[in-house]
Amino acid sequence: MIYRNEELRDKFVRIFDTTLRDGEQTPGVSLGIRQKLIIAEQLDKLGVDIIEAGFPIASPGEKDAVTRIAKLGLNSQICGLSRVITKDIDACLDCDVDMVHTFVSTSDVQRIHTIEKSREEVVELAVSAVQHIKDHGVTCMFSAMDATRTDIDYLTQIHRAVEQAGCDVINVPDTVGVMVPSMMYRLIRDIAETVSVPLDTHCHNDYGLAVANSTAAIEAGASQVQVTINGLGERAGNADLAETVMILHTIYGAKTNIETEYLFETSRIVEQCTGVRIPQLMPIVGENAFAHESGIHTHGVLVRTDTFEPGVMTPEMVGHKRRIVLGKHAGRHAVKLAIEAAGFQTTNEQLAEILNRIKELGDKGKPVTDADLYAITETILGEVSKKEQFIDLKEVSVMTGNIITPTAAVKAYVGGELRVVANTGVGPVDAALGAVQNLLGEGTKVHLQDFKLEAISGGSDALAEVTIAVEDADGRIVNARAAREDIVMASVEALVNAINRLIMVRGRA
Ligand code: MN
Repeated sequence: MIYRNEELRDKFVRIFDTTLRDGEQTPGVSLGIRQKLIIAEQLDKLGVDIIEAGFPIASPGEKDAVTRIAKLGLNSQICGLSRVITKDIDACLDCDVDMVHTFVSTSDVQRIHTIEKSREEVVELAVSAVQHIKDHGVTCMFSAMDATRTDIDYLTQIHRAVEQAGCDVINVPDTVGVMVPSMMYRLIRDIAETVSVPLDTHCHNDYGLAVANSTAAIEAGASQVQVTINGLGERAGNADLAETVMILHTIYGAKTNIETEYLFETSRIVEQCTGVRIPQLMPIVGENAFAHESGIHTHGVLVRTDTFEPGVMTPEMVGHKRRIVLGKHAGRHAVKLAIEAAGFQTTNEQLAEILNRIKELGDKGKPVTDADLYAITETILGEVSKKEQFIDLKEVSVMTGNIITPTAAVKAYVGGELRVVANTGVGPVDAALGAVQNLLGEGTKVHLQDFKLEAISGGSDALAEVTIAVEDADGRIVNARAAREDIVMASVEALVNAINRLIMVRGRA
């Protein structure tokens, strides 16, 4: 017998995304209007039911952003946040939102020390806020802020009062992330017995349980869940949209309107807009989410992917890619496939020697790039490729500063023909990498799939190590690395390496 949970099979769950509100409150994050519009359009493409676009009373810029998002005419409903204060609600209504989400602190600790109101006053404020919202004909959601640290009898009292006042949805926020799934399950089940409006939940990740608490709330009867892209939000963040949705779809068999094949793309767009890098080990969308290195696992996955992956969830479902990483744990199988894919033919003895060298490199603590693998293979096969490089770089010069547009000029032999190209960019690296890409004619164009920069030591003379992956029109990806004291030169060298190796692979294919 294999354990399964069928209770939520085919249950529909509404996805309420708060990347643009709680997510923007991530310490250190501030989004410009352009970035907010990009994210809102992407959330709509992803299929979220409701976008919490911001807190209009917070600033004129915020109000303008919410207004412009509401005017985009998206399929997603647009929600604005307000305290239980008339001017906050009016600011939301001015933006022409579909829904107003109004909140007030109900836990003793927040009520006494932040808003300094009695329990009765808080109930009165909540009721009149809900009435004011409903008088204007928009959907109303109410949140008892810090609900999970609120006395349950008082929580019931305020929930019943706002339900009577016409509130459409009650959100149960775990504002400071202190729940565990079994507690969340009981709390939501108990609340569901006292009110009949749909329940929503908003879980924070202070103990790493935001997603688990959210799914427990849904098991207990909640029909809507608040999430953010990449788990952004205050402190340790909110429940991550991708994780929550993939658990709902693939473990419970529940349904949402999310088009999961856009999850990876959405994560990367939000990463770029916010500047908050996601961890390599992040579930679903992280670099390693579908990566395999050890011989046992890669052999298994190459035979049948569900041997060492969830199986019910695949990289294709979330718009990600499976990756076999070569390193000290590499197996013969994976190495053989990787070099055959690049068009090399080896004998068993040569393959064994290539594997040894890969493990030696891995033992030095470095992942083995495609360029490393090909260089090793060429050495073992006695092929010398230095003079056959597609791009043979001759000169690189870069100008940058506070009063000029960063500009790079590159001179190189490309397929034997001398070319000189200049390019501008947002910085010297961007300008130089763009110039190298511009050396390539139609038919050899590549797309920069990944760029990673690491400083190897501490000072301003630190060695910069750049790893670049390029992808051609057929989806072939090749990565290469270079390390130099000069960050521009390290970047250019890594890109030229990657392009030369990619051209070589194409030539063999
Ligand atoms: Mn929050």
